[in-house]
Amino acid sequence: MNILVTGGAGFIGSHLCRVFVERKDFVICVDNFITGSKENIKPLLDKDNFKLIEHDISEPLYLDEGLDWVFHFASLASPKHYLNYPIKTLKSGLLGTYNCLGIAKAKKAKFFLASTSEVYGNPQIHPQPEEYNGNVNIVGLRSCYDESKRAAEALTYAYKRSHNLSVRVIRIFNTFGPSMKTDDGRVISNFIVQALKGEPLTVYGGGKQTRSFCYIDDLIRGILALTETDYQQPLNLGNPQEFKIIDLARKIISLTQSSSPIRFFPLPEDDPKRRKPDITKAKKILGWQPEVSLEEGLTRTIAYFKDRLR
Ligand code: NAD
Ligand code: UDP
Repeated sequence: MNILVTGGAGFIGSHLCRVFVERKDFVICVDNFITGSKENIKPLLDKDNFKLIEHDISEPLYLDEGLDWVFHFASLASPKHYLNYPIKTLKSGLLGTYNCLGIAKAKKAKFFLASTSEVYGNPQIHPQPEEYNGNVNIVGLRSCYDESKRAAEALTYAYKRSHNLSVRVIRIFNTFGPSMKTDDGRVISNFIVQALKGEPLTVYGGGKQTRSFCYIDDLIRGILALTETDYQQPLNLGNPQEFKIIDLARKIISLTQSSSPIRFFPLPEDDPKRRKPDITKAKKILGWQPEVSLEEGLTRTIAYFKDRLR
């Protein structure tokens, strides 16, 4: 198959590109490297079935090749980055999604959108099922990301309805693993890098807020399983095991055998208090559920970051 992956040099996108290249698909990776890295796709660069296009997907893109799938994963994704670039974030979600849908329509390809648990905002329903319409502060600091993804979903279903496009939409819950950058800014990479360097772990708020962390291999399995079905409604993909951020900090200190202290900082505006996916649908439709425990995933990710910091 011919597959376009936007954001293909990023954390999740580079894993997708690798898996597709390994199974002998032809992969076109589009990335503007705003947060992605050449290092992530280095092993793919000399493969005949891999092509890199350095391009901002907020701008139109015209390709000669036919396509079977368009995977739109390009977006600023870490709060640290999207708060620095709110307009670019909105442009990836709005114009980037619009451009990718246009490509999929022109090529008669299927469209796959990386949406997010952030569409649920600071949720008042727990755990979050796909039917929940969320609690997003429309004009808050995080709205550049949350609303860009909500609009990306709306655009996707407008194209499905108007042009009969075949679509897949996943709402990804906090996913982590190798290929994250040391300066990514999201909690697991921050804590591991801080612990390995012997620096204080920066816990925001009291650390009582919760997240549910999914290891990258489990997410990729879920994505591939969804491409094998005709299910076209939004689908949560994540690990339903929920942890307090303070407990995550303690676990990472213990697994890295670090002597780092924990230091508390103010909770960022609109930081969701709780987050946990209801994965009933993914279990039923894909026969999928996460298999890698937090401890196992952290151990693998710590080994990766140790190597990066050498
Ligand atoms: P990432 O920052 O590692 O990867 C994003 C990639 O997109 C980077 O390579 C970046 O350079 C590229 N990019 C950003 N804007 C672009 C643009 N306008 N044109 C071309 N390339 C652009 O983040 P990630 O965690 O790999 O996220 C991938 C996707 O998954 C994103 O759409 C994100 O919103 C979504 N997602 C991720 C998580 C998670 O926990 N990792 C959770 C929810 C949703
Ligand atoms: N967090 C933290 N310290 C950090 C980074 C993040 O305590 O150095 C907290 C953050 O406030 C949030 C949770 O960890 O409550 C997850 O943050 P992340 O940036 O990974 O992603 P989010 O789930 O908020 O999009």
